[in-house]
Amino acid sequence: MRVLAIGECMAELAPTDNAGDFRLGFAGDTFNTAWYLTRCAPNATVSYLTAVGTDALSQNLTAFMRSSGLDDSFVQTIPDKSVGLYLISLKQGERSFSYWRDQSAARSLADDPARLAKAMDSANLIYFSGITLGILAPKQRQFFISALKDARASGKIIAFDPNLRPMLWESADTMTNAIMQGAGVSDILLPSFEDESVWFDDATPRATAQRYIEAGATTIIVKNGSESVYFVEDGASGEVPVKPVSDVVDTTAAGDSFNAGFLAGRATGLGLRDSIAFACRLSRKVVQHRGALVPVEASTALDGDTGRLV
Ligand code: AMP
Repeated sequence: MRVLAIGECMAELAPTDNAGDFRLGFAGDTFNTAWYLTRCAPNATVSYLTAVGTDALSQNLTAFMRSSGLDDSFVQTIPDKSVGLYLISLKQGERSFSYWRDQSAARSLADDPARLAKAMDSANLIYFSGITLGILAPKQRQFFISALKDARASGKIIAFDPNLRPMLWESADTMTNAIMQGAGVSDILLPSFEDESVWFDDATPRATAQRYIEAGATTIIVKNGSESVYFVEDGASGEVPVKPVSDVVDTTAAGDSFNAGFLAGRATGLGLRDSIAFACRLSRKVVQHRGALVPVEASTALDGDTGRLV
């Protein structure tokens, strides 16, 4: 199995226990999913497609990517640009974020349609998100969606997390229209009900799933925090219960890790319900730790040949 995840990985400055000191890390929604995928599905090759600059920070990011087990063959370098940055502030346990990403190199990741098509051709499974769409200019967004459409027509599986982030978009309408376009070229949809209910006015997870089925997707998995996960696939629907964590430490990357667990399950031959249950187990672990990238031990890796936990 070859997976291609596409999007933006940013530098992260997170507060340490020493007031005023910050630790440098790297994270970003699609990147987090790719990172967890390398751990859960060790037999898969996971490539990350993005663009970075040529400066030291960009080089650090690419080195981190490689040391995490990700293939960086599709990382483009753009001179005079750099990676986006966000800083986490903590006030009485509540996290808030400041972003510097308007000029990031990743915004150019879809500038070259031929390069995009070549990268997509190398994969069986292509993963992107609403953030991937949100950082692109309108023309590049259309290149990107059209490349996904061609890839799907040639038999690739396309997985999409709408990850609605209004801050990245000029208007709510532009965002919701682009998300529905993305859904229209995808097989697997991995939305979070909390966001979907706000921006699409969905009354229930079932309504969210129905909207994406009508857009043309075949498998819809609606995450809903500590509530059950609702799914629809090929006309069958149901729920998988979540074992709630009462002392949540940090929900960063809960959805991203869930997506990785689900895709790893499917990639290694688990059935739908088992893949969702595996995803719940992984994200349950992630919300009990601080930060996006939580070390996951062997109990959350799947054997590529048998689909069993190793
Ligand atoms: P969300 O994107 O917030 O809907 O969360 C994604 C996934 O993370 C959920 O489907 C759950 O599997 C897991 N998750 C989030 N919050 C909790 C929680 N409080 N307890 C257990 N699992 C959780």
